Amino acid sequence: MLHMMDFQVLKDSVYSSPAFVIDETKIIQALALLAELRTQSGCKVLYSIKALPFSAVMDIAKPFVDGFAVSSLFEARLADEVLRQGSAQVFAGQGSIHLTTPGIRPDELEELSLLCSHISFNSLTQYQRHAEAAQTQASIGLRVNPKLSFLVDDRFNPCRQHSKLGVAIEKLSYLDHIQGLHVHTAFSAIDFAPLIKTIDKLQRHFGIGLAELQWLNIGGGYLFGQIEDHRPFVELVKKLNNDFGLEVYIEPGKAVVGQAGYLLATVLDSFVSDGLTIIILDTSVNHNPEVFEYQRQPELHEHVPDGDYTAMLVGSTCLAGDVFGTYRFKQPLAVGDQVVFKNVGAYSLVKSNRFNGYNLPDIYLSNSLRVKKMKHYDYQDFRRQWLAD
Ligand SMILES: *Cc1c(COP(=O)(O)O)cnc(C)c1O
Repeated sequence: MLHMMDFQVLKDSVYSSPAFVIDETKIIQALALLAELRTQSGCKVLYSIKALPFSAVMDIAKPFVDGFAVSSLFEARLADEVLRQGSAQVFAGQGSIHLTTPGIRPDELEELSLLCSHISFNSLTQYQRHAEAAQTQASIGLRVNPKLSFLVDDRFNPCRQHSKLGVAIEKLSYLDHIQGLHVHTAFSAIDFAPLIKTIDKLQRHFGIGLAELQWLNIGGGYLFGQIEDHRPFVELVKKLNNDFGLEVYIEPGKAVVGQAGYLLATVLDSFVSDGLTIIILDTSVNHNPEVFEYQRQPELHEHVPDGDYTAMLVGSTCLAGDVFGTYRFKQPLAVGDQVVFKNVGAYSLVKSNRFNGYNLPDIYLSNSLRVKKMKHYDYQDFRRQWLAD
């Protein structure tokens, strides 16, 4: 956890606002845990870059991971670029790039096969269409849907009814034509029960057939840092390796960056509306769209549950529902005060947009010794997006 003192440093320093601050120390802590699990179990670790595809984060990850997991051509290109550059930074592994996506365009297949070391096709039809061409370059696998739902909310459930993600397990019996399988069934899980049940189902269905494979990618969705006992994971990976000779990959995203991201904002205006204090911030839910998409209230550093002052924090845009939530404070917030949303490292900045013409936040990288501005957007970026060619 970033301490109060760090926040003081954070706020008193020359941060522009709004700012997206990445805590390097926390990312390294998360990666060190994954590297430890890698050593203990023999699994391979990929950083799933879709959570935060920022090159500085990928550079930090390189010495701890075996590569990157990607979902598209652009992510594959970025992963490849980061992988190649800066020979001083040694990779933990050989630098794999794994792809799985329901949408492979025919005109992108050739480049994808060159960029990606492993491709897990999402359906049998996608496999039939592209596997032959891809397999000369990449190791070929299938994403399988084990038909096990671990989530009540279908928006996050890859095994929902009529799922578009993966080949239904009952449609797959022989594995002799592929090198790997991919499963991704969990979402922000804080124990390994979904993993154990998923692997158990695969074992019961395929039996010794699993030994035909070289690798098994068990996806992301586990918050390794919030799981106390890692022994079930270590034992499972070792067993898969021992019983079937499988190379086991994990591809966490949120577990790497989720707790390492902060959104700092400044109070622009304050007034009372129907009896409640409204605080207008120089940010909006468009800098963290899941707040609106999933109606989820982000954690606020300044919130004190028994504080005497209540206020609703809202964004600057014209959308009535551009609301972060109602929080409590020790003192009333004044214009110019700064607040910090925490645990917003994953799936926030990558989904951000410039709705209403509000700029994206600047991006900073901070550790205990220094704060560095890594990225600044300006009117030219907005103009380039919206001026016709
Ligand atoms: C999103 C996703 C991940 C990463 O998930 P996290 O919840 O961020 O760990 C990994 N693999 C696949 C196939 C995904 O769709």
